[in-house]
Amino acid sequence: MAPSPADQTTDQATSASGALDVDVVIVGAGAAGLHAVHRLRLAGFSVRVLESADDIGGTWYWNRYPGARVDIPSVDYMYSFDPEWHRDWQWSEKYATRPEILRYFNHIADKFDLRRELQFDTRVEAACWDERAAQWRVSTNRGDISCRYLVMATGCLSIPKEPDIDGIDRFRGEVLFTNRWPHDEVDFTGKRVAVIGTGSSGIQTIPHVAAQASELVVFQRTPNFSMPAHNGPLSQEKLAELADETVYREAARYSRGGVPQERSITPTFSVPAEERAQRYERAWQIGELLETLNVFADVMTNPAANHELAEFVRSKIRATVADPQTAELLCPKTYPIGAKRICLDTDYYATFNRPNVTLVDLRQDPLRSLTEDGIDTVTESFAFDVIVFATGFDAVTGAIVAVDITGRDGHTLRQQWATGPSTYLGLTTNGFPNLFLITGPGSPSVLSNMMVSIEQHVDMVAELLTGLRADGFDTIEPTAVAEAGWMQHVRDCADITLFPLADSWYVGANIPGKPRTFLPYAAGVDFYRVACDEVLARDFLGFRRSGPAGESCTDGVVRRLQPDVQMVLEQVAALDPPALESLSPAQAREAVGEAAAIRPPGPDVGEIVDGLFPGAAGELDYRLYRPSSPGPHPVLVYFHGGGWVLGDASSDDPLCRDLCVRTDAVVVSADYRHAPEDRFPAAIEDGFAAVRWAADNAEQLGGVPGRLLVGGWSAGGGIAAAACQLARDAGAPAIIGQALLAPVTDTVTNRTSHAENGEGYDLDTSLMRWFLDQYSDPADRTDPRIAPLRAADLTGLPPAVVVTCDFDVLRDEGAAYADALAAAGVPTEHIRARGHTHCSLTMVDLVISGAAVREEFAAAVRRLARAPQFS
Ligand code: NAP
Repeated sequence: MAPSPADQTTDQATSASGALDVDVVIVGAGAAGLHAVHRLRLAGFSVRVLESADDIGGTWYWNRYPGARVDIPSVDYMYSFDPEWHRDWQWSEKYATRPEILRYFNHIADKFDLRRELQFDTRVEAACWDERAAQWRVSTNRGDISCRYLVMATGCLSIPKEPDIDGIDRFRGEVLFTNRWPHDEVDFTGKRVAVIGTGSSGIQTIPHVAAQASELVVFQRTPNFSMPAHNGPLSQEKLAELADETVYREAARYSRGGVPQERSITPTFSVPAEERAQRYERAWQIGELLETLNVFADVMTNPAANHELAEFVRSKIRATVADPQTAELLCPKTYPIGAKRICLDTDYYATFNRPNVTLVDLRQDPLRSLTEDGIDTVTESFAFDVIVFATGFDAVTGAIVAVDITGRDGHTLRQQWATGPSTYLGLTTNGFPNLFLITGPGSPSVLSNMMVSIEQHVDMVAELLTGLRADGFDTIEPTAVAEAGWMQHVRDCADITLFPLADSWYVGANIPGKPRTFLPYAAGVDFYRVACDEVLARDFLGFRRSGPAGESCTDGVVRRLQPDVQMVLEQVAALDPPALESLSPAQAREAVGEAAAIRPPGPDVGEIVDGLFPGAAGELDYRLYRPSSPGPHPVLVYFHGGGWVLGDASSDDPLCRDLCVRTDAVVVSADYRHAPEDRFPAAIEDGFAAVRWAADNAEQLGGVPGRLLVGGWSAGGGIAAAACQLARDAGAPAIIGQALLAPVTDTVTNRTSHAENGEGYDLDTSLMRWFLDQYSDPADRTDPRIAPLRAADLTGLPPAVVVTCDFDVLRDEGAAYADALAAAGVPTEHIRARGHTHCSLTMVDLVISGAAVREEFAAAVRRLARAPQFS
């Protein structure tokens, strides 16, 4: 009989220094390791898989507890590299049990002859990069092995959390861990059993234990949201969807979670309550995790939307659990639904109606220790025969840093990640050449269907390695710039969601001392894949590649836009609307009006009053937004955007509401005459008239006389800036602050920001030129009333806050104005809105990332309004 790789280990795994044993070492023979063998072997690389267990399966090998099932439908939780699968495999249920999944992996291993490369009972302990030889030296309990490339296919949930409960050694009964369950069946019949932990593992285990045990006590510290899996045979609908395998799998690859599904674009509160209730019920009946979180577009971004779904689930718990007190304890109330992975269960809540099951709330009665006989809480002693720990994992990073990895210059990964992991694309990390982390931190991993994410990462590794080989390189490493940019993007993606608000394993909160960082990439499998594709298409952007052929590096950051800004831009591009500048002004106004009609309304304010004020050539509209706090308030006269052509007193309604709430000022949005009907200087004449009128009527408007600010967005920002100059020159009225949001301050279109952002964002240079042409003659364009930056003297102007946006053609002129004001001695705050476009900050409740910038802007306005002479 030919020796198995395990038998050959000692000889093969110990090689002389400098010789290369294999091209690639893969650590782990779970779903990722198996796919990596297949893919990399096909690509012509020699590979070896090192696995600490004595068989394949990874998470499905270890988590043998009763009731263990997949929580993504089985037809989705499978490899797509075997499109003919239905010829020799079929799933018996919608959600397969652990043994069936393990059978599937064995079937794949046999079908594709993967076992040849697998070496079991081999624990990888350390890996050290040999700079001179450009190879990894991997140390195992069975000797060393050298390789060019090291692939950590170690899984996201594979290192058990160390029990942080006293007295485990003291207990004389049986202790079991769900994540290291015995291979032999455990019989609980007639036993007194405790289960500690109510995450997915506990929730799947508990009904099974309850059915056998004489007594089951569940020790719950934090309740989890769980919903019924409604497991059963594969539905005919699902099988019909699978008729075209290629289309189905491609849809999964470009979906948010890795299961074919259209992203919902419907905000919760855009539909009536009755329809919302129906949608929640439908999702509940379907029993799919990703479907539930997709019930509305804003479940994971809008606290009120999230609360409503959570309340729906709580109502289901209350309706199922007979004892109201137990039901309340089982209702999660301290974090947003979805911010901890929702569990899929079979009869979990109903289990608490059984006479042999009790729930102990460790928040009210904390666990003190295990004793010889059982468990002591602060107020009670319990006796047990068996204690089951379902206490979770050191997730995502645990299995990677469990191996002592040393990269360039003797730096270890443990040191590098001491304050939290840092990666490029969740796949590689600076300082550790040729190291690949399958579904590592900073990739969609645990927020997605793992099988889809695993395949994508393995394919990406294969692409990178074949690219190296083709180009005559043998070493690849991400640059520090690319990695820092990616991590910023990962944080940006998390920060616009509610995910970071829970003390979950997603943020490492379950492991004492683990730095709190949101570990996965939250924008979705689709956005992630497009970013990876772009990296490859842009000549391996962000990677330094070197070897016998020399060195190559296209340095840069693949994602610099805020993720929600990018999503909006992509959604608009998909609609392919005509360019405004290709329309007549009337058509452009209609198009903008239609878009405004469907945007979120913005927050409630105390009062909205519409009225008329005397413009320079007749009455004009204003809309006043009054805060709900008791007045009087400072008054901010606001001018809307729209390039002097579009808009009116109410066209920036959501932004004005938001400003009113955040600044606690009366915001008076004053209209002005528009071009082309009324060209320069009509708009600024009306703007200055509005400022004088507001100063004269401050008290009637509910304002504090003398506490007058002037502000605006875009062309309105330019009008505000020019009005401040006119007021200074006229000696009145007194203005205590100017608040300029992405203002027009000049009339040229040849600045760098035009060159960089002139096309493809929301204000193209061609549109800016169209606006200028509608409003002004070339001869007017050096007049400071249209180009405030051209003023000969900027001294004596009111203190200013100026916001500029990274991806705005007006960025550089706004920045130039802020600099010029400061140089003229005007106290000036310049806020740079990272990753934003000209319009994105005005998209209240649509572009969530804008809220933080608007808050910064409003805080500056509040400071201006509290200027010392008026406090
Ligand atoms: P988990 O979600 O981290 O849950 C661990 C549970 O143990 C929590 O209820 C936790 O309470 C509790 N716990 C931890 N330490 C404790 C202590 N010292 N005293 C009292 N209670 C303590 O772990 P998990 O249930 O193993 O699930 C982890 C992940 O694995 C899941 O989110 C899911 O992604 C995956 N999984 C999936 C399936 C599936 O359906 N396919 C099944 C199992 C697991 P606190 O919340 O208060 O810390």
